[in-house]
Amino acid sequence: MNDRLRPPCAPLLLACLITALAPAHDAAAQTYDLVLRGGRVMDPESGLDGIRDVGIRDGRIAAIIEGPLLGREVVDVSGLVVAPGFIDLHAHGQDAFSADLQARDGVTTALELEGGSFPVADWYGERSDGWRINFGATVSHGAIRRAVFGDDREGSVYAVATPEQVRRMQELVSRGLAEGAIGIGFGIQYVPGASREEIFRLFQTAGQWGVTSFVHVRYAGVLEPESSISAIQEMIADAAGANTSVHIVHIGSSGLKQVPVLLDMIDAAQAAGLDVTTEVYPYTAASTAIQSAIFDPGWRERLAGDYGDIEWVATGERLDSASFSRRRAEGGPIIAHIIPEDAVAYAVGHPGVMIASDGVPFVDGRAHPRGAGTFARVLGRYVREQGALGLMDALRKMTLMPAERLQDAVPEMRRKGRVAVGADADLTVFDPERVIDRATFAAPAQGSDGIPHVLVAGSFVVRDGEIVEQARPGRPVRRRPIS
Ligand SMILES: [Zn+2]
Repeated sequence: MNDRLRPPCAPLLLACLITALAPAHDAAAQTYDLVLRGGRVMDPESGLDGIRDVGIRDGRIAAIIEGPLLGREVVDVSGLVVAPGFIDLHAHGQDAFSADLQARDGVTTALELEGGSFPVADWYGERSDGWRINFGATVSHGAIRRAVFGDDREGSVYAVATPEQVRRMQELVSRGLAEGAIGIGFGIQYVPGASREEIFRLFQTAGQWGVTSFVHVRYAGVLEPESSISAIQEMIADAAGANTSVHIVHIGSSGLKQVPVLLDMIDAAQAAGLDVTTEVYPYTAASTAIQSAIFDPGWRERLAGDYGDIEWVATGERLDSASFSRRRAEGGPIIAHIIPEDAVAYAVGHPGVMIASDGVPFVDGRAHPRGAGTFARVLGRYVREQGALGLMDALRKMTLMPAERLQDAVPEMRRKGRVAVGADADLTVFDPERVIDRATFAAPAQGSDGIPHVLVAGSFVVRDGEIVEQARPGRPVRRRPIS
């Protein structure tokens, strides 16, 4: 508070004291829609870590006091942590099956920011009849590139765009942003034809709109000049040159063993005043499509990996030279066991790195387990079992930091990622002694354990560990469309 606005308390001590106490008395006298009683409330923004009652009314948090609060419904959550609902900035699984696994992992907002959507209005429209958890998307550079190249599928991946084609991409990106997209999503490594100029021009468009670019960077690997270092340098240079912000996705799979130096570079860029952020998923394996440009010839040298590191998702088999060629011609999802464990642990423990899943859609119940277990895995394995980071620090990486990443472009995000009066009642209630992921590479479609309750806008979507089938409180996270 500004000193000039501070009420003159000294001469009116009693009156001020009464005013200060009044909200708590008022709160205790009211009846809330729902009260979560006696939980350990943890809020990374204020630092609150104490036993409180949380009163919820009209989908928002209306009171947080030492209790007791009155509610039409009161749920005893003693012994459990009451945290802001987890915000996943990187969720490709934008389907009902994935949403249920995300909810059971404590996620209340799952956003498709790397891959993005196009046309944007259609994407939001498809989910407008009710969704389990909050949803939202960027406008997709990849989809726009395909639209501009039309029937030339090969060109949409490998061809360098003409200046006119880049201008057309800028127009289509602007259309998507006008329809409410919450940023621009890029998978540069998937479209090797996208020149540095094309990316820079689109970053300028992001700068004009005041939105963030969410980017899978150009290279992953140690071979210069096509290294992870060079890819991160492109992002930092473009953010500076276009006066815009960038969020670098999955630093683990894009950085591999170079993660520590990449995080040094990102820290230094932030210290210099640039708005550059990043995230990680807590697994030592990546996942993508085998037919993608990432596996063009030379991939074993670039990624420092081999055929046997590649798992064919449909069967779980590891590949060799012959089966790799066969599967690549066929096309389909793979899991690549190529990320060093110490790189993952370093990024998970680094205070500047957010947690995001990069979860991909399940096909016949199979996919990388990160779409089901990312958040519980960080809390169970990295916080409780390994002590790699503190509980509040972990919560900050999955709640407040992603909300802050988005809130300049989407002001409603100021009401998420916090347990605070006035915030949306998106809450995750978990047992810090029991929370753990159950999804494995062999059996990935398994909900996490130790997360009994998850609420979106004050409604239970998970209750006593089970999905509440009829609950559809999810809302769009979207910039205000411009008509
Ligand atoms: Zn990616």
